[in-house]
Amino acid sequence: MSQVISVRDIQEMIRTGQGVNIPDDALVTPSARDFLSELQTNGGMNGSNGASNGKSNGSKNGNSPYVGGEHLAPPDKKLNSKSPKSELQAFFNSPYAHHLKEQICEMGHRLWKREYVDGNGGNMAIRVGEDIAICTPTLVSKGSLKPEDMCLVDFDGNQLLGTKKRTSEILMHLQMMKRQPQAIATCHCHPPYATAFAIVGQAPPTCMLPEYEVFCSVGVAPYRTPGSPDMGKLVADLTDQYNTILMANHGVVTWSHNNIEEAYWRMEIIEAYCRTIVVAGQLGKPINTFTGPQMKEILNIKQSLGFVDPRFSMKECELCDSGDWRPGAMCEATQSTEPTIGLDPDAEAAVKAITDQILAQMK
Ligand SMILES: [Zn+2]
Repeated sequence: MSQVISVRDIQEMIRTGQGVNIPDDALVTPSARDFLSELQTNGGMNGSNGASNGKSNGSKNGNSPYVGGEHLAPPDKKLNSKSPKSELQAFFNSPYAHHLKEQICEMGHRLWKREYVDGNGGNMAIRVGEDIAICTPTLVSKGSLKPEDMCLVDFDGNQLLGTKKRTSEILMHLQMMKRQPQAIATCHCHPPYATAFAIVGQAPPTCMLPEYEVFCSVGVAPYRTPGSPDMGKLVADLTDQYNTILMANHGVVTWSHNNIEEAYWRMEIIEAYCRTIVVAGQLGKPINTFTGPQMKEILNIKQSLGFVDPRFSMKECELCDSGDWRPGAMCEATQSTEPTIGLDPDAEAAVKAITDQILAQMK
């Protein structure tokens, strides 16, 4: 009779470090099958990919990803941009790096399926050493990303490895990582509802849904030409207080201290939130918001998860001030924003500069 393999059996194989080995004739239960495919695509997702600090080995929650007997842990030796090329090459071709590349592809496919990216839009990066990161290439749809498309760059944006050219927006991701040492992974895309808020230069009103409050802390960066150092600096300056940044007249960028999937989740959460509150605002009923004490409880959870939020130090009575929000009516602005391109006499020049940049890259 064939051996039956359950989720518990797989977890035991992982726990004892023997690697996941399923005999050919074994019967794998449906939930074990799901668990296996999750391991293969998201292996490190439930813990930290631990790539930045060398302290975590990806087994934070006892769920260290072993697939096919290969231990998908970060390298013991901390690499940097000055490491010998052979070491960088060995790392870049290692099962661990491949696993991170697969994670980026998986997130790219999800971004594309959810219509958060268009054309070759959107980009992601994962910190994999002191001053190096794996990132997405330019001019590839996130819907068709493959692990072999990925690039290795140093924190100045110089490409170290990879056959495709790195994304033109990489500087922003790298500046975020330089400025925010906790940022392991960054994700940028253009989800329509959240980007609509970015176009009006307004962070969504708060205190309406707990998930959004826990996972997202939203700041607004003024418009600059995508890919310019100035744009990266303005975004990076917000990362000590915010993990989700609306880039005026452009899109959204998020970061995570855990892994790329969490950075991606922030996109789903802010987009769903923006869509939901726009609908709520059309129902002709007063919008109910959390009370100060309710909000304080949510922020306590957020703080315990290690997320940033400028409101941790606020008093309860200061926390919720957006009860009168309606589409078209501004809730009290929490941040100053610079004039946006729509009203700027230089708008045409800015649009032309971007168009030229895109055309130049396509040549
Ligand atoms: Zn963009």
